[in-house]
Amino acid sequence: MVLNEYVRDIQDFPKPGIGFKDITPLLADPKAVKASIAQLMSTIKDKNIDKVVGIESRGYFLGTILAYELNAGFVPVRKPGKLPYSTIAASYDLEYGQDTLEIHTDAIKEGECVLIHDDVLATGGTASAVCELVEKLGGEIVQCNFLMELSFLNGRDKLSQYNIYAAINY
Ligand code: 5GP
Repeated sequence: MVLNEYVRDIQDFPKPGIGFKDITPLLADPKAVKASIAQLMSTIKDKNIDKVVGIESRGYFLGTILAYELNAGFVPVRKPGKLPYSTIAASYDLEYGQDTLEIHTDAIKEGECVLIHDDVLATGGTASAVCELVEKLGGEIVQCNFLMELSFLNGRDKLSQYNIYAAINY
């Protein structure tokens, strides 16, 4: 199955000049979801993952399925002010300005094996902020995996010390 046939290009979203990869056609097709999960599982299934950390919000769709398949817990990383318990935060640079993500302080225990998952790896700023949060809590990052990698944006450079896997490459 050619997964990128299920990804739709939307021009000028969310801003003029940006080409956005829309994964909703893939999510709407059960065969494409199953094939995506099979690919994402292929390099991680024997790695004894304790927690899957999903990044708000598109990282939750397949991240929760991966956690279920791996028999691991699921941990949401969220935008500021959304998590109810005590949190730590990490900020990262955007093209214009900054963004912040939060995680619950008890979400990961010292030494737990962690898979970080998001839908898209673009410049890598988001995932590297999440790696910082997980390591502050004492988690061991076994892999960062993505449904899709926009390799022309060189996101791997910001994540060079981690194992990276993407099911679809552009
Ligand atoms: P980065 O921090 O790597 O530049 O951007 C990755 C984050 O932005 C991810 O959380 C991802 O959901 C979102 N993102 C950036 N570009 C796209 C895109 O073209 N399509 C989708 N679905 N998400 C994107």
